[in-house]
Amino acid sequence: MAVRIVILGGSFGGLTAAFDLKRHLGKKADVTVVSDLDNFLFVPSLPWVSMGWRRPEDITLQLEKILKPKGINFIHAEATGIDAVASKVITKTKEIEYDYLVIATGPALVFSAVPGLGPEGGYTECIFTLEQALRCNGAWRRFLKDPGPVVTGSVQGVSCFGPTYEFAFEVDAELRKRKIRHKVPITFVTSEPYIGHLGVGGLGKSKRIMEDAFAEREIKVITNMAVEEFTPGEARLKDGTKLPFKLSMFAPPMAGVKAVFHLGNPKGFIPVDENYRHKEHKNIFSVGVAVAMAPPEQTPVPTGLPKTGFMSVKMAKEAAKSIASEILGRELPQAEPLDVICLMDMGDTAAFMKAKPLLPPRQESELKSGIKYKWMKSAFEKYYLWKIKHGLTQLP
Ligand SMILES: Cc1cc2nc3c(=O)[nH]c(=O)nc-3n(C[C@H](O)[C@H](O)[C@H](O)COP(=O)(O)OP(=O)(O)OC[C@H]3O[C@@H](n4cnc5c(N)ncnc54)[C@H](O)[C@@H]3O)c2cc1C
Repeated sequence: MAVRIVILGGSFGGLTAAFDLKRHLGKKADVTVVSDLDNFLFVPSLPWVSMGWRRPEDITLQLEKILKPKGINFIHAEATGIDAVASKVITKTKEIEYDYLVIATGPALVFSAVPGLGPEGGYTECIFTLEQALRCNGAWRRFLKDPGPVVTGSVQGVSCFGPTYEFAFEVDAELRKRKIRHKVPITFVTSEPYIGHLGVGGLGKSKRIMEDAFAEREIKVITNMAVEEFTPGEARLKDGTKLPFKLSMFAPPMAGVKAVFHLGNPKGFIPVDENYRHKEHKNIFSVGVAVAMAPPEQTPVPTGLPKTGFMSVKMAKEAAKSIASEILGRELPQAEPLDVICLMDMGDTAAFMKAKPLLPPRQESELKSGIKYKWMKSAFEKYYLWKIKHGLTQLP
């Protein structure tokens, strides 16, 4: 009988694991992806959705359509729990038994971390889901008719800093294009100890390059700062500073999603070994943002370690190799240390970042900016969507 492998989550981590496992194991495995969304979303383009530079249909693919031709089952359902002892995923309508489970459920967004944070019941926009990015685009279009101060950034406990940098730079570029930049003071507030820290302890000259980039654009930067609360039209910082805004977008901290929380650390992230196997449950693996990873250093205001799409894909490839090796009775592969390559939009230009390995001390570490990285970012989006549409996760 084929080994039953269930993958929770249909994004960077989940799809890479599903396609790689099917490729490694063929008929030996019955691979099923369970996702509460019926589409794959190219999350890195969400800041562009908030600016109106991308439509949802430009960056989404129907999961059923891309999985079925590869012989992978798809169940469109939200997992409400996991019975790790009985090896079952629980949804509202059924229980799905597995021999191996790959948890790739990404993050839950913790807006409750700061009073008034977030679009649901709060006063700030967010761009971490498609719905939020579309909502933010609505707020942006209203803002353009009646502009005023913008306050953006990352509150205490955030790990994913890149999107707020992108948002700040894109707002600046778009306002300049519309010749109304002089009507909009922009303030960037972040829990990072310095600009360019990015949750990874900086990369090459990232501090200097990012300080210059913000200064050249006349974006005021407040680092090492926590936010006390957001009220309608005002960000109140821990040091008592009050920043009025017409538009505000802030990144929230993340935790593990509810269905897998009990299998995780106190924040619900899944503890794994070097092969991405759960430290207690040997038939459970986890990849991507769902995985527990310690930050490189303690920062005065708490920050976390970002887990990028590139990293999620690498983790999924390693986990798939390990599961396949075990099923085929081969020796477990030695997982390579994680490294990262990332392209960050900077509005009128972009930055290329590389860290090998991910955490310092590193063999290679750099951040450089240039217009060619903007073209590369756009080209990569199209390439990745094409690659995942055809299940070609073996390609670079
Ligand atoms: C705005 C933004 C911009 C970014 N830009 C970049 C970038 O430029 N480059 C880069 O490398 N990385 C970037 N990242 C990070 C990157 O998007 C993430 O690393 C990547 O999406 C993580 O993939 P994942 O598969 O772990 O989780 P996710 O992409 O979060 O996907 C998790 C999936 O699991 C599903 N799911 C969750 N809970 C359940 C449940 N209970 N039952 C069933 N399904 C469930 C979700 O619907 C989702 O489809 C960005 C992130 C954001 C938010």
